[in-house]
Amino acid sequence: MGGPEIDHLITLLAKLPGMGPRSARRAALRMLQQPEQRMLPLAQALAAAAAAVRPCADCGNLDSRDPCSICADPRRDRSIICVVEGVGDLWALERAGVHHGLYHVLGGTLSALSGTRPEDLTITALLSRIEEGETREVILALGATVDGATTAHFLADQLRPTGVTVTRVGQGVPIGGALDVLDDGTLAAALRGRRSA
Ligand code: ZN
Repeated sequence: MGGPEIDHLITLLAKLPGMGPRSARRAALRMLQQPEQRMLPLAQALAAAAAAVRPCADCGNLDSRDPCSICADPRRDRSIICVVEGVGDLWALERAGVHHGLYHVLGGTLSALSGTRPEDLTITALLSRIEEGETREVILALGATVDGATTAHFLADQLRPTGVTVTRVGQGVPIGGALDVLDDGTLAAALRGRRSA
C-alpha cells in the first residue's frame, strides 16, 4: 500500500485486543485521513499515558497517581478489600459503583495448566496489607472457573490465620475476566450475594 509507515501502523494496531488486520486497516485509514483531529491527539494521549501510568504500589490498580485515586480516597471503606484477578475486573466494579472499599489486583489465578504459582501472584502483598490491621473483610471476586475456585480456596486458607472475614461473590456468576461484560445489576447482585468462604 502506501509505504512502510502505514504497514507498521497497521501491524501495531492489529495486535490490540479486539482488533484484527481488517479493523486495523480501517482504523489506520480513518486516522490518516484526519491526522490533525484523530491521529495526533491519539499519539499524544498514548505518550502521556505511557509516561504517567503505573501500577499502584498498594493495590495494583493502574493510575497516574501512586497510591492510586481509589487507595488515596478518604471516602473509601478501608476495612473491606475486594480481591480481583485483573485491573479490567476492578474497572468493571468501579463502573458499576457496587464496591465502596479498596481493591487488591492479584495478577491472575493459580493455574496448573499455565504454570501460575502462588509466588507469581500478589498474595504476599495482600497478606502484608492485612497485617497492617485495618482490614475486616476480604471479598474474593474471582472467576467461577476451576482456576478461580482453586485460587479462592488457596487464598481463604492463607487468610484464615489473619482472622479477617473472607467472603466469595455469588457462585454461578461468571465473574473474573468475564466481569467486564456483566451488567451493573448482575455485578451488584454478585457482590450482595457474597458468602463466607
Ligand atoms: Zn491503589
